[in-house]
Amino acid sequence: MAAKRVTIIGAGVAGLVAAYELERLGHQVVVLEGHPEVGGRIRTHRFVPGRPGPLVELGAMRIPATHHRTMGYLQALGLADRLREFTTLFQDEAAYVQTSRGHQRIRDASATLVEELRGRLPGAGGYSPQMLLFGAWMAVRVNALAPGDFRDAVGRGLDAELIGLVEGIDLDRYVRAPGHGELLDLRALFADHPQIRAGCRGRLYRFVDDIVNETGATLLRLAGGLDQLAHRLRERIRGPVHCGNEVTGLELGEREVRLRIRHGFGTRTRSCDYVLCTIPFTVLRALDLRGLDQEKLAAIADQRYWNATKVALHCREPFWAREGITGGGSFTGGLIRQTYYPPLEGDPELGAALLASYTIGQDADRLGTLSRPARIAAVLEELGAVHPELRRPGMVLAVADQVWGSEPSTRGAAAVRWGKDAEACEEERIRMARPQGRLFFAGEHCSSHPAWIEGAVESAQQAVREIHRYPAAALAADEPCEVGA
Ligand SMILES: Cc1cc2nc3c(=O)[nH]c(=O)nc-3n(C[C@H](O)[C@H](O)[C@H](O)COP(=O)(O)OP(=O)(O)OC[C@H]3O[C@@H](n4cnc5c(N)ncnc54)[C@H](O)[C@@H]3O)c2cc1C
Repeated sequence: MAAKRVTIIGAGVAGLVAAYELERLGHQVVVLEGHPEVGGRIRTHRFVPGRPGPLVELGAMRIPATHHRTMGYLQALGLADRLREFTTLFQDEAAYVQTSRGHQRIRDASATLVEELRGRLPGAGGYSPQMLLFGAWMAVRVNALAPGDFRDAVGRGLDAELIGLVEGIDLDRYVRAPGHGELLDLRALFADHPQIRAGCRGRLYRFVDDIVNETGATLLRLAGGLDQLAHRLRERIRGPVHCGNEVTGLELGEREVRLRIRHGFGTRTRSCDYVLCTIPFTVLRALDLRGLDQEKLAAIADQRYWNATKVALHCREPFWAREGITGGGSFTGGLIRQTYYPPLEGDPELGAALLASYTIGQDADRLGTLSRPARIAAVLEELGAVHPELRRPGMVLAVADQVWGSEPSTRGAAAVRWGKDAEACEEERIRMARPQGRLFFAGEHCSSHPAWIEGAVESAQQAVREIHRYPAAALAADEPCEVGA
């Protein structure tokens, strides 16, 4: 089969994986990236550049061990030995959760949370104490992890629906001893009973899947920063990766795709045999698009995205360790939602990173529309109530923040399919990924795992197969086309 010349728009995970795989199949690639750096929504911030100081992930930060495609590339790129367990929200029982009695330590909060659930759940007396414990902690997760609009929409009647997931399961063995806070070991529960996740229908379908990923699966992080994944991929690609080259227009012809590209103060046109477009549809729909059919334009216009914000602090020292918090996260509610305590990396003399606030959806819109000084002040004030050490002079050395909804290269954090059932999710995926002649599409929004690196990888592998086989007659259906690390 003759080598194809493929131009890839976007050097996020999808674009980089596609470039790597296309070259492995003998094709030639050129990657055009609008941002000065590769990686897209993988963005590692180093507070002390050039020295082994604290770092924080302003984009993706953890990988479920069950995401086999992503894990395969980490292995193939020699990064597997840097994988460490990611301690997530509610996993460190010394961290905090917001309850009707204020901020309580997670280990002390079960009684209050169950009491709150009893107050709002009709017929609560009909459930066992273990089921109520499960319902109470799942409701907290919904509150902590779901964005405001979704939280409100699913809130009504959700308690009973959530408790229904564990009907018939013996929960006794998952309740930890009262001395340990009477927490329910949700992680072990989800691991032992995959049917909880598989049995989710309707509005709970994608949502519980994501909650289980956040809670149930082993989550991993990459010591030294997740951007190593993007940089390693780039190193392995032989074709040019042109950063600072922003595509501003795209015209689909019968035998070519013409791109208009801005670089510095100049603009040029490039005529391409094949194009793989991996940029988010939020950005694509603002470009000058010609020759695409109405159905595709409608898909590009329709895809819904959520915002996300992160505000990270460079602290003089990890003061939270003195309170017994060794990792994981707190849910302090209010504007700032989730707080994470990243593990200490590098030279302790260079300080410690605190991911003070992580918000998505409407919560992110609210925080994102504030001016930067107002946003930082709001975060410090709210988190300062839980951690007064933040108010000590000289404790906060620097701030790094990212509002993904107003970042020009993404204009959103991730495509969302929550609230849709499995069939509707798959229909949407096919609509988003559908190619147009010699123009192909990839990116997390074209996958069955939106909002995850795994989705970007899955979509890239699928697009590579389609490009390799194009036109359909070029490769017999049973001829092998192996893609994947
Ligand atoms: C805050 C946040 C937290 C997340 N947490 C996790 C997590 O913990 N685990 C996980 O697995 N996933 C997480 N994700 C999702 C994950 O980061 C994404 O699914 C994945 O990185 C998307 O990759 P992509 O290649 O599809 O898109 P992108 O990474 O967005 O890549 C698209 C690329 O196209 C470029 N581009 C845009 N416009 C143009 C243009 N006009 N011309 C040229 N180039 C252009 C962009 O600069 C970008 O580099 C998170 C995302 C966010 C925002």
